[in-house]
Amino acid sequence: MPKLFIPGPTNVADEVLEAQTKAVIGHRSQALADLMGRIQPMLKQVFQTENRIFITASSGSGLQEGALRNCVAERLLICVCGAFGERWHAVALSNAIPVDRLDATWGEPNTAEQVVAALQRKNYDALAIVHNETSTGVENPLADIASRARQVNPDLMILVDAVSSAAGVDIPVDEWDLDVLLTSSQKCFALPPGLAFAAVSERALQRAENIPYRGWYFDFLLYKRYLERNMTPATPAVTLLYALETQLGRILEEGIRARFERHRELAQLAQSWAQDRFALFAAEGYRSKTVTTVRNTRGIDFNQLSSFLQKSDMVLANGYGKLKGETFRIGHMGETTSADLQSLLGQIDAFLALRE
Ligand code: PLP
Repeated sequence: MPKLFIPGPTNVADEVLEAQTKAVIGHRSQALADLMGRIQPMLKQVFQTENRIFITASSGSGLQEGALRNCVAERLLICVCGAFGERWHAVALSNAIPVDRLDATWGEPNTAEQVVAALQRKNYDALAIVHNETSTGVENPLADIASRARQVNPDLMILVDAVSSAAGVDIPVDEWDLDVLLTSSQKCFALPPGLAFAAVSERALQRAENIPYRGWYFDFLLYKRYLERNMTPATPAVTLLYALETQLGRILEEGIRARFERHRELAQLAQSWAQDRFALFAAEGYRSKTVTTVRNTRGIDFNQLSSFLQKSDMVLANGYGKLKGETFRIGHMGETTSADLQSLLGQIDAFLALRE
């Protein structure tokens, strides 16, 4: 099995892959409702919330769209500090949602000061932000931004894309008073791709009540009604739900604190290695705990490095979009251990030694 050091999808444990091979059941059966009923409290523990968690048969982008369709009644302010913030902005535009961008230089975070100033300049009823920008390797100071933004406007919808950080990084949804925290299955959850999750606040559901055209597939009110019976509006990805139950058991057995700590240690290892040999793209103090974006200061040929690593069954990620070539990325999330990461870094060192 190839070892994935890309920032998603990530490796999935055999036990979790095998859980998917159980028999498919009808999605209106009691067995399915029981499964959903067992999953919900475990998901709440991982998200550290009493809010409902909707599970969709989509990737995270679906819920990026859903969050905007359900929660923006007037005008959205969207923070952009990399490619995934840009993507979410494009989602807003394609849904004809009135939106303004708040851009930070790539490699830098969005800051609470910038957000507060923007919220004071104009009326916004929603703020969207990517917690962990997978392209630049920047983690935004979300706790600070959320609390300062809430002070400016207590009714503001705070919508967070935590696609590459939820379940790997501490994001206490209730403590930080977040309205939507969305993520995908294939990153820190270490599940196969195909599911997305959103922790949705009561305030967000009340907002949705006043928005007539929320779309159908990601209509939060429809999800809420079905979830009351432990069901989903449309056919769920039943076999992925089996995998989810098994993986949530594994995550809680590891303990969420221990899991966050493991991710923090992996990041430290990757970043100190990269600083010794290259340089880091993300500004100090805002470096991601799940992905390290390395500035390619040695001008190495990524394709050559990639082919070299392939011989040891290891997969690394090139820079994303316009950062291709200028950077490469080391994903260290999900099931990755420090031994795994050390062997990858050792192989990259072997590649560098060959060039000397
Ligand atoms: N947001 C971030 C921060 C991401 O890293 C990604 C994918 O890498 C996405 C959104 C899109 O998620 P998905 O591919 O699950 O739709």
